[in-house]
Amino acid sequence: MRLAVIGGGVVGVSTAYYLAEAGHEVALFERYGNVAQEASFGNLDLMGPSGLRLWATPGAPSRIFSMLFRPESPLAFSARFEPAMWRWLKRSMSESALSRFKQNQQRLYRLASYSQELMQHLVQTCELDFQQRNSMMIMFRTARELEMAHPYMELLGEFGSRNELLDPEAARLLEPALSTETPFHSALHVPDDWAGNCPLFVRQLKTLSQDLGVEFHFNSEIQAIRPELGGTTLQLEGRNVDVDAVVIAAGSDSVRLLKTMGISLPIYPVKVYSASMAIQEFELAPQTSLFDDTYRVGLTRLGKRIRIAGCAELGSSNLDLHHKAVNTLVKVADDWFPNAANYRAASFWCAPTAMLPEGVPLIGPTRFSNVFVNTGHGSAAWALAAGSGKLMADIITGLRTEIDTDGLTLTRYGDRMR
Ligand SMILES: Cc1cc2nc3c(=O)[nH]c(=O)nc-3n(C[C@H](O)[C@H](O)[C@H](O)COP(=O)(O)OP(=O)(O)OC[C@H]3O[C@@H](n4cnc5c(N)ncnc54)[C@H](O)[C@@H]3O)c2cc1C
Repeated sequence: MRLAVIGGGVVGVSTAYYLAEAGHEVALFERYGNVAQEASFGNLDLMGPSGLRLWATPGAPSRIFSMLFRPESPLAFSARFEPAMWRWLKRSMSESALSRFKQNQQRLYRLASYSQELMQHLVQTCELDFQQRNSMMIMFRTARELEMAHPYMELLGEFGSRNELLDPEAARLLEPALSTETPFHSALHVPDDWAGNCPLFVRQLKTLSQDLGVEFHFNSEIQAIRPELGGTTLQLEGRNVDVDAVVIAAGSDSVRLLKTMGISLPIYPVKVYSASMAIQEFELAPQTSLFDDTYRVGLTRLGKRIRIAGCAELGSSNLDLHHKAVNTLVKVADDWFPNAANYRAASFWCAPTAMLPEGVPLIGPTRFSNVFVNTGHGSAAWALAAGSGKLMADIITGLRTEIDTDGLTLTRYGDRMR
């Protein structure tokens, strides 16, 4: 089959790679001049699978909203009033009920652990090096936070994930540079979770995909998709391209492309922030990855740099930096590793992520037999991309998928949404 993939982020490139590996002729269209230029560019680089935390967890909405008026908070709102945002937020909050949370986290874990297996296979067979580093700790500042994390920790037990709850003394043995000025209750150590440089990996996978025959078309924005009998036409500026089928992996722009065919999905573009800086004092820098449960901000160390990321902003349609998000990242870094780097001089960055209320992506066919989606990965596509790409390729090729797709396709919304 001659297939098109729209989007050169980690999801699109993974999809193109696995489609080509399955023997298809693949062309990838990307509106920028290279791969990994949008959400896949400056992310936190955590690859899970166990540390992937949904936003909609039991108790989270009230806890997060109680922090909203502080100078530092996990969530920020821009001034724009937008009914679509409130509808999405309401729906997202309803996903934090215990039964919904468990179902969503199970689906996420199924896909994330499959992705991890595929990534390990790729690393070994293709000898990839993208600054991988193992081990992460989730920091609980208070006993109440740990208590609220119990449903998540119970699920980790059910998944068979290796983890250990550490008291501050034991946590400091693993992370000797943790500031003694910041008290905390405990830390959950997840030794098998890993981090790695996402854009570096995407560029390496691009080369592997080109070796398999994938054509990359840069500076090529798809404006609309016209599904037809027996094929699909992609509309670009000044020309049309005909293919047998198309996969939409266009991150936050997927919604607009789907609308050109009358398909509406509950994806909302949530802006997420990161900051990168050179390490100045190596002994005072983190050894592993760390996730601050209060502020939902993570820190990773990649080579000679530290990356801090988190803070979700809603209601913004531009890439301006929100002062609250910047304050939050700096506070968290200062709290845990105050002398490792000059955080105020960091380069701050943000990007829209395609977030679904459940926090679980959609991978599979739409009501048009030649149009497929691989989108809605929110703040977790790096951890989910390999599995999502392989699932997509198996579905299109008509192969039996290696994991159960229950809850991962558009059928979870019933026929109405497809
Ligand atoms: C600050 C931050 C921290 C994060 N941390 C983590 C983390 O630690 N772990 C993790 O797993 N995830 C993390 N994420 C989430 C992760 O980065 C995203 O989920 C992921 O990058 C999404 O990948 P994608 O390929 O779907 O989208 P993108 O990377 O956004 O790629 C979509 C691509 O499609 C292109 N495109 C869009 N429309 C068109 C069109 N019409 N025609 C042609 N091309 C088009 C865009 O230019 C873009 O290159 C983080 C995100 C952010 C912003």
